[in-house]
Amino acid sequence: MLPKILISACLLGRPVRYDGKGKPLNDPLIERWKAEDRLVGYCPEQAGGLPTPRPPAEIEDGMNGEDVLAGRARVLEVTGGDVTAEFIEGGKKAVAFAREHGCDVALLIDGSPSCGSGFIYDGSFSGTRHPGFGVTAALMHRAGIEVFSDRELERLAERVQSMS
Ligand code: SF4
Repeated sequence: MLPKILISACLLGRPVRYDGKGKPLNDPLIERWKAEDRLVGYCPEQAGGLPTPRPPAEIEDGMNGEDVLAGRARVLEVTGGDVTAEFIEGGKKAVAFAREHGCDVALLIDGSPSCGSGFIYDGSFSGTRHPGFGVTAALMHRAGIEVFSDRELERLAERVQSMS
């Protein structure tokens, strides 16, 4: 069987983001993987019970997904709401969903407090980035699912090729 890839649902263009929109990734590799039926879309924030649209959220105080899982940081909406529990719940469901569908790799959009793996925002809602994992990416990493960002398509393609 061809290796499956868990992908952030917004990268498939599904309108699941906080602003009610998708963020489709237009690339020949994505088209090929779609044609090969390798892509399995999932949105952890929706799975965690959050509505769409929803207020934007960031991990507080320049912390990251691992800090959230360790109880050292919260995920806060710009409006002040604490959505830590929903983010953790959605991330756990994403890992379970990946396992259920035989996904050993994940393609997650960068920058998100859930899906980010190269960078996330620092909790000040000022557009300031720093290196780090979001909550779902951290849980995937813990579970041994290899995470690739949308900026690492070529590297993912090499990985998928090596698994075939
Ligand atoms: Fe996209 Fe992930 Fe945010 Fe859902 S949680 S909208 S899949 S970045």
